[in-house]
Amino acid sequence: MGSRQIVTQLLMIIGPKICSITAGILYRFLYFKSHPVAVSQKSAMVFSPHQDDETLGCGGMIALKRSLGVPVEVVFLTDGQYGRPEWITPETIIEIRQQEAVNALAILGVAISETHFVNQIDGSLQDLPHSQRQYVINQLVQRLQSFTPGEVYVPHSKDIHGDHEATYKLVQEAIAVSGIQTELLEYPIWMLWQDPIFFDLKFKDMANAYRLAIDSVKDRKKQAIESYTSQTSSLPTGFLNRFFLPYEIFFKN
Ligand SMILES: [Zn+2]
Repeated sequence: MGSRQIVTQLLMIIGPKICSITAGILYRFLYFKSHPVAVSQKSAMVFSPHQDDETLGCGGMIALKRSLGVPVEVVFLTDGQYGRPEWITPETIIEIRQQEAVNALAILGVAISETHFVNQIDGSLQDLPHSQRQYVINQLVQRLQSFTPGEVYVPHSKDIHGDHEATYKLVQEAIAVSGIQTELLEYPIWMLWQDPIFFDLKFKDMANAYRLAIDSVKDRKKQAIESYTSQTSSLPTGFLNRFFLPYEIFFKN
């Protein structure tokens, strides 16, 4: 084994640990850089690439708004079929992830009638053929026009994940087509985790970061996250802990 191989092997062992520690530091740094914000009375539509992103990124915000009687709807863009642990068959994964989403959202106070599945193939959003892309945008436009949310929540535009960044672009385009007036807020999932040392967040992005205290609903959010049993076991060590914190970070567009 050459010295280069030794270094590679060492990085494979300590890499995830460094990643976890750096991500944790950056996420806490954001806490100090962000502006405190109170939960608003505006209705909200949360767009989620996969079944769990909405709860991880916005679970506290959703629970807070619902406890105040503020309407919240959630739209899932993909079917989540490739987030499949070995113990679940390919035939059942889509149904299981949908049921987990319904269960998690019930804990947060969102009814099944306010939960929508656009069911695109997991991992396909960045490279949708033109006609399929138009179909998806039309679906999103219909949702936006029928609900007219005061706030729209999307994954961050630099979330370092194909489906997540594509969701941002699709929703941004759908808002423009829909003609509705709404406030766009971006939630981070992977951006501070994947290659956190090199993440592409500028100081001007930091200036647009807001933190929402979710202490009063923190336990409900944790319970909702834990209802995603098909996902929680396969996520990186330390990754979930960030979403158990008593605040959530959003970036105003
Ligand atoms: Zn996701």
